[in-house]
Amino acid sequence: MLDTIIPFTPRPAYDSKLPFSTLDKGTVALVGAGPGDPELLTIKALNMLRQAEVILYDYLVSPEILALAGSDAILVCVGKRAGSHSVPQQKTNQLLVDFAMQGYKVVRLKGGDPFIFGRGAEELEVLVDAGINFQVVPGITAAAGATAYAGIPLTHRDFAQSAMFVTGHLKAESDSFDWSTLARANQTLVVYMGLMRAEYIQNKLIESGRDKQIPIAVVEKGTTVSQKVFFGTLSELSVLAKQAEAPALVVIGEVVELGEKLQWFKPNKEALAEASAYV
Ligand code: SAH
Repeated sequence: MLDTIIPFTPRPAYDSKLPFSTLDKGTVALVGAGPGDPELLTIKALNMLRQAEVILYDYLVSPEILALAGSDAILVCVGKRAGSHSVPQQKTNQLLVDFAMQGYKVVRLKGGDPFIFGRGAEELEVLVDAGINFQVVPGITAAAGATAYAGIPLTHRDFAQSAMFVTGHLKAESDSFDWSTLARANQTLVVYMGLMRAEYIQNKLIESGRDKQIPIAVVEKGTTVSQKVFFGTLSELSVLAKQAEAPALVVIGEVVELGEKLQWFKPNKEALAEASAYV
C-alpha cells in the first residue's frame, strides 16, 4: 500500500478562494504576461488584468491574453519590434505617468518577465520621479517557458550546472561580453533577440573554445500554438536562425540534446488554423 510507505501530508484546511490583491486608482502594476500561452499567466497577473482600467501592452502580448482584460479596459499598444519603434520609449513613459496622474488603474503589460530584457526598471524610475506608486508582478520569462515547452531543461545534474541569459542585441564594435565565460562547457547559454546576430554569436563562441558540435535549438514563438523548434549544432546556428521567425530564443548547450527525447508539446493544429484566420 502506497500510504504505508509515503507519509502523506494531511490536506490543509483551506479557504478555496483564490488569492486576490488590488490595483489602486492612480497606481501602476508592471505585469509580466509570460511567453505566450495564456495559462502561463500568474494568478496575480490575471487579477491585475481584470481590474485594470488602462493597459499599455507590448507587441509580444498575445490577443488571447488581452482578451482576459475587463471589457471596459482601454488597451493601448506601445509595442516595439527590433528596428522599428512604433512608440518611442519616452512617449510610453509619458503615457504611464499621465494615465496614473488622471487616477486610472494602470497595467503596464510586458511579454515574459518585465525585468528580463524588458526595460521594466527604466519605466519604474520614471514613476518614482513622478511620485506614482507601483507594484511589480513577475512573469515566466521566455528562457523558462519556451525551453520547458521544447522539452529542454535549463540545468541538469549531468549536463549543465549553470545557465546564462544574454541579449543578442549587441553591436560588434561595442561588444563587452566575456566570450570565454559564455563559451564554457557544461553550461546553457540562452540568447534573447539572437536571430539577427546569430552568425556573429556562432563564430565568437567557436573562436572562444565552445565545441562546434554542441547541440543548439532555436525555439520560435515558444509556448504558443505556432511554436516551432529547430534543432542542430553550434556550427549550424546561423543557418537555423535564418529559418526562424521572431520572437525566437536561441539555446546552446549540452542540455539541448534532451529536447528530442523529452518533446511533449504538440501545438494544436486546429487552434493554429483559427489563429491564422484571426491574423
Ligand atoms: N521580457 C521578455 C523578453 C523581452 S526581449 C521575457 O522575459 O521573456 C524579446 C525576446 O524574448 C525575443 O526576441 C525572443 O528572443 C524572446 N522571446 C519572447 N517571447 C518568446 C517566445 N514566446 N518564444 C521564443 N522567444 C521569445
